Amino acid sequence: MKLFIAIDLEGITGVVSERDTDREGPAAKAAREHMRADLDAVLEGCVAAGADEVVVCDAHADGRNLDVADLPPRAVLVGGSPTPYSMLQGIARGYDGALFVGYHARAGTAAAVLEHTWNYKVFAATLGDLEVGEFGLGALLAGHFGVPAVYLSGDDKAAAEAEALVPGIVTTVVKTGITRLAAVLLSPDDARVRIRDDVERALRADDKPAPLAWNGKALRLTFTRVEFCDVAEGCPGVRRLDGRTLEIPGVDFEEVYRGFLACVRLSELKD
Ligand SMILES: [Zn+2]
Repeated sequence: MKLFIAIDLEGITGVVSERDTDREGPAAKAAREHMRADLDAVLEGCVAAGADEVVVCDAHADGRNLDVADLPPRAVLVGGSPTPYSMLQGIARGYDGALFVGYHARAGTAAAVLEHTWNYKVFAATLGDLEVGEFGLGALLAGHFGVPAVYLSGDDKAAAEAEALVPGIVTTVVKTGITRLAAVLLSPDDARVRIRDDVERALRADDKPAPLAWNGKALRLTFTRVEFCDVAEGCPGVRRLDGRTLEIPGVDFEEVYRGFLACVRLSELKD
C-alpha cells in the first residue's frame, strides 16, 4: 500500500494561535514538535494498516517545519518551497489514499481555528456553488490522479468540511474551535491515540471514499482587497469578473489548481 500525506500546521494538536504558526519563537518551536508527534501517530497507523511506502509533504508555509531526522523507514519527506503542486507536492497516480493531517477550515468559517485558504489574502474560492478551502482543493487534485481522500485531522470545523465534501472520510477532531483564536484542546496523548487508531481504521475500511471528482466549473477566486486582484489578473488565461474576483478556467482540475496557485502567488507581491 502506497500513501500520500499532506501535513499542515494550523490543525495540529495544541495549535491555536498565530504565535504557534509563526516561523520563530518558543511557541513556534513547540508547535513543530506537536506537528512531528501527530505525524508519528499517523505513520504508526499507516504501518499498522500495512503501508509499505509513504510520501509526506511538509505543506505549511515554506515547507521547512519537519526535520527528516528520525523519519521511519519506508517514508520520504517532501520539504522546501516553492514546488509546482505546493501543499500536494508528490501526488501522482498510483497512491492508494491521500491523508490530510493538521488541516484547518476554509476562509470565512465561523469558530474555526486559524481559518484561511492558502494565505490571508483569499476571501473565497468557489467552483460553481461549491465553496472549497485547502482540503477541498487538495482532495480534488488527488482525485484528478485517481487517489481518494481517506483521512483528515484538524479542528471540528475542518472535520465537518471534509465530511461534507467526501462522505465516508475518517476524521480525527483534535480540538474544538470556540473562536478563530481559541479552542478546547485535546491532550496530546489522547489526540495521538485517536489519530493512530483512526488512520488505521480509515486504511483498513472496505468502503473507502471514491476519488473526489471535479464538477467541471471554472474556479472563482475572490481576494480580500482589489489590489491583490490587480496583480493576480496578470496570470495568463484568467478573466477578471469584478474588483476582487478572478475566474480561473482549465481543461482539467490539475490546470485549474495550477492557475489558482499562480494567482495566489502573484497576490503575495502586494503586502
Ligand atoms: Zn493551511
